Amino acid sequence: MAKVAVITGAGRGIGAATAILAAQHGYDVCVNYAANAEAAEQTADACRKHGAKAIAMRADVASPEEVTHLFERCDSELGSPALLVNNAGVIGGATTVENLASEVLRRTFAVNVEGAFYCAREALRRMSNRNGGSGGVIVNISSIAATLGSPGEYVHYAASKAALDTMTVGLAKEVGPLGIRVNAIQAGTVDTDIHKTGGNPDRPANVARASPLGRVATPMDIAEAVLWLASEKAGYATGTILRLGGGL
Ligand code: NAP
Repeated sequence: MAKVAVITGAGRGIGAATAILAAQHGYDVCVNYAANAEAAEQTADACRKHGAKAIAMRADVASPEEVTHLFERCDSELGSPALLVNNAGVIGGATTVENLASEVLRRTFAVNVEGAFYCAREALRRMSNRNGGSGGVIVNISSIAATLGSPGEYVHYAASKAALDTMTVGLAKEVGPLGIRVNAIQAGTVDTDIHKTGGNPDRPANVARASPLGRVATPMDIAEAVLWLASEKAGYATGTILRLGGGL
């Protein structure tokens, strides 16, 4: 029987690439999204082309009720997850802290931090060998911003990713004995829609010029690392923060 992966924010960008690669690796995939049903259906279709079962499921990860419902639906339609990728994330608009709107700060932490906790909580209840589960893997999609701080534009976002890194380290120690590994990837700039959404569409091109490798990451660069962390080849990796910043 195929293992099941829950990938949040999998309609577009890094999440979509991860969902498709997970399907290639033999997972059935819960393709979570927030609003863009068409993009999520396209990702699910691409997963099915690789022979996987895949279902697009809407849920705002910042809502604990919607997250509970997402995992219950996944249980009944695909089965209990062996892999959770906490990928859904928002950046808010580029701003200094002096001009930061309270709602942007709240929403950034609600999605990027609370959402990861709500999803991890549901996954752990199913994966834990103390509850009769078979263990599992959680991969959190963090950012190099967590250590760079992103002054003048995204300090609120950088701080949310630093919180996610700390959650990764603590949770890995808490649930290692329950058969669950927890790791994070600090991604550098990736060419996705998030930069347009944040009002900064030229960011990937600008970062590429300053990057040691002369380019930004592709979504697949990050997806490959997720699937490695999920695999038995990474069986000794837990509490690891893997930096994929192209030298930044
Ligand atoms: P993206 O292209 O903007 O895609 C974001 C995805 O997340 C979309 O599928 C969106 O759903 C979903 N989403 C947003 N809010 C959600 C919510 N509340 N509940 C459920 N799903 C939600 O973003 P991306 O660049 O691929 O980023 C993915 C992750 O990588 C984020 O955590 C981001 O912080 C991190 N990251 C990105 C970069 C980068 O340069 N791109 C760098 C470092 C880290 P809809 O399609 O329905 O809107």
